[in-house]
Amino acid sequence: MKRNLVTGGSGFLGSHLSKKLIDKDEEVICIDNFFTGTKKNLESIIHHPNFELIRHDVTEPLRIEVDRIWHLACPASPVHYQFNPIKTTKTSFMGTYNMLGLAKRVGARFLLASTSEIYGDPEEHPQTELYNGSVNPIGIRSCYDEGKRIAETLCSDYNRVHGVDIRIMRIFNTYGPNMRFDDGRVVSNFIIQALKNEKITLYGMGEQTRSFCYVDDLIEGMILLMESNYQKPINIGNPNEFSIKQLGNIIREIINPNLEFTYKDLPQDDPKQRKPSISLAKEILNWEPKIELREGLLKTIEWFKINS
Ligand code: NAD
Ligand code: UDP
Repeated sequence: MKRNLVTGGSGFLGSHLSKKLIDKDEEVICIDNFFTGTKKNLESIIHHPNFELIRHDVTEPLRIEVDRIWHLACPASPVHYQFNPIKTTKTSFMGTYNMLGLAKRVGARFLLASTSEIYGDPEEHPQTELYNGSVNPIGIRSCYDEGKRIAETLCSDYNRVHGVDIRIMRIFNTYGPNMRFDDGRVVSNFIIQALKNEKITLYGMGEQTRSFCYVDDLIEGMILLMESNYQKPINIGNPNEFSIKQLGNIIREIINPNLEFTYKDLPQDDPKQRKPSISLAKEILNWEPKIELREGLLKTIEWFKINS
């Protein structure tokens, strides 16, 4: 039976991944400092005999015998990663360094949850894995963007120098059940606002674009990548691109078409456009997303309704 370590396992993506691995009859050890994760996300597996949960901060070393390390620990929402930016950089650097050291010592395969943010405010559109990005090193998003860039560097050097078997997954905006109500990212913000009959907050004019992937598609891509033998960065996301205002309109149509928009300042360095090229994922992993935005939103809204 494979033994998996999932860092950040009680967060949004980590909880879905842990459940999927348990369903595949594998062993899962989840470590988390519960900064943005919650035990509630794990309630369906927490008592399963193949599951263990350890309170641990990845900025501290850990000794444990595992076959695979899925390194997800890091706050992902701008609101949360900017709350303590120095800790975010520390988590990205020290956390990845500690987990790669563990992978090296026990010979585990290592997957990094990287991000489309490494492309910054991109001049190339859509973004392919060959694009090196346009990132501000000193702005309010830098703790996260540069943190993930250095994490990719560390993975690549542990691979070249120590032969650690790495996977680098560049995740594009993903949404679904188990997002925190106060997560602060756009999909959960808009759903919560609409369910409370509040105005929908558009930052800027809402003309900036994102490409939204439903969590089930994303986790399928993550597992396929871990199972593959591909050691370079790969984009996983849904290539259908929407402006933020279009997203707001779809959520309004589903929940309450009479809701108004309210406009707020666009945060510094907010990327103007984002859309993954997924040619590589199709070719290497035979993966592409199946769930359209509207369908994924319906499932997500249902979950928010039941859990609010
Ligand atoms: P999340 O905030 O819901 O989950 C992150 C988890 O990591 C939480 O459980 C949190 O408590 C834990 N954590 C944070 N710092 C830690 C530390 N120092 N030690 C131990 N645990 C710590 O975010 P998510 O959306 O599930 O993202 C998971 C990973 O995927 C992150 O690395 C993120 O950068 C990456 N990612 C996510 C998206 C997305 O759209 N969801 C996009 C790109 C990249
Ligand atoms: N956004 C918005 N209103 C909100 C939250 C976010 O208009 O209430 C915008 C934000 O400015 C960004 C986009 O939605 O352009 C996606 O934001 P999110 O924080 O979800 O992710 P990221 O910017 O990291 O892609």
